[in-house]
Amino acid sequence: MTATSVTSLLSGFPDQMPGLLALYEDLHAHPELSFQEFRTASVVADRLRKQGWKVTESVGGTGVVGVLVNGEGPVVLLRADMDGLPVKERTGLPYASHETAVDGEGNEVPVMHACGHDMHVTCLLGATGRLAAARAEWRGTVVAVFQPAEEIGGAPTMIKDGFLERFPRPDVCLGQHVSPAPVGFVGTRPGPVMAASDSLRVRLFGRGGHGSAPETTIDPIVMAAAVIMRLQTVVSREVGAAQTAVVTVGSLHAGTKENIIPDTADLRINVRSTTPAVRNRVLAAVERIVRAEAAASGALKDPEITGLNSFPVTVNDDRATGTVLVAIAEALGEERVLTLPQPLTGSEDFGAFGTALGVPSVFWHFGGADPALFQHIAPEALLTDGLPETIPANHSPHFAPVPEPTIRTGVTALLAAAAPWLCTEADHACDRQEM
Ligand code: ZN
Ligand code: ZN
Repeated sequence: MTATSVTSLLSGFPDQMPGLLALYEDLHAHPELSFQEFRTASVVADRLRKQGWKVTESVGGTGVVGVLVNGEGPVVLLRADMDGLPVKERTGLPYASHETAVDGEGNEVPVMHACGHDMHVTCLLGATGRLAAARAEWRGTVVAVFQPAEEIGGAPTMIKDGFLERFPRPDVCLGQHVSPAPVGFVGTRPGPVMAASDSLRVRLFGRGGHGSAPETTIDPIVMAAAVIMRLQTVVSREVGAAQTAVVTVGSLHAGTKENIIPDTADLRINVRSTTPAVRNRVLAAVERIVRAEAAASGALKDPEITGLNSFPVTVNDDRATGTVLVAIAEALGEERVLTLPQPLTGSEDFGAFGTALGVPSVFWHFGGADPALFQHIAPEALLTDGLPETIPANHSPHFAPVPEPTIRTGVTALLAAAAPWLCTEADHACDRQEM
């Protein structure tokens, strides 16, 4: 099969840049929490319709799906996520968010695009605009998925809402994430690329009383402290040095006043792992420690352990990843494409589409950080030494991808990755079996 060339798809793209910059700043200033992306979804649907896409809204809540049928040929799924996070933005940018919203537990919280999903929406709308404008350059069908609630697992919700039956079945699923790597660089790997994530809520039961008479109580705060410190030994003592796992207690709530010992303490725990064996071992260790520390404190009631959400390991198809890496290298330059030595500890629900559809997926990261921050660091060193702590990462209140050339890189990567699957108009023997 003669695939359409990357350059022909990219040739008219720079003309769209002013519109995309304004779109990015608007989305950044108006982030919305998971499953509340009503404004974002309507901006997306509006733009897609104007570009000439067939649009379906409210898929799995606030999801938007655009379909562009452009003759016979393969079907490519491109995906962006849309949700922001309950984080108070501290970037000081002129287009910083001042938004607040009510979260799932009824609390008013600040909202920020602290994971860069506004960048993903902007880049995918840039790619859909170019695909619509360059219809003569390719053949096939593109399904553009704007997914809600990636942070809490919105992809399965779209699938449960009939995604498989309602839209053309893709031959490949492609997705990307902006990262704090230097702008212009793209990184991924065949096989596992993102970790599994499991979130748990733990309620510890003590017996409340007066702060002056702890002997008449069972103090859940001391119990929680013991649990948290002992959890630090899971990775250091129970996971092999060649394997990766993370155990984070991201939230601890107990008590109201300094002289009252409360009845309960609530913890939220997040576990990351990259193999099923490590995942099972770490989750079992967390449960064992929570229960044992409660018993050691003389708790009158067993702790409650509730699963909040669970993301499997994101796995890139070997062959499709090879195809995508070659295409992106052709578009951005070989030296700008890095193969990650190991999976990242971040997690994604993107893999849910490929798994449910039974087709290969490829997910990659593209840098959005100011290159000035990396003056004395070789990009390859980031792969071995990790990110310097001076550079704000995703979920930080200071996370601020430089809009340009990050947008250009993200749009280019999407178009380049899609191109090998989309046949040229002249190619009458277009056959999806060959890819
Ligand atoms: Zn995130
Ligand atoms: Zn994210």
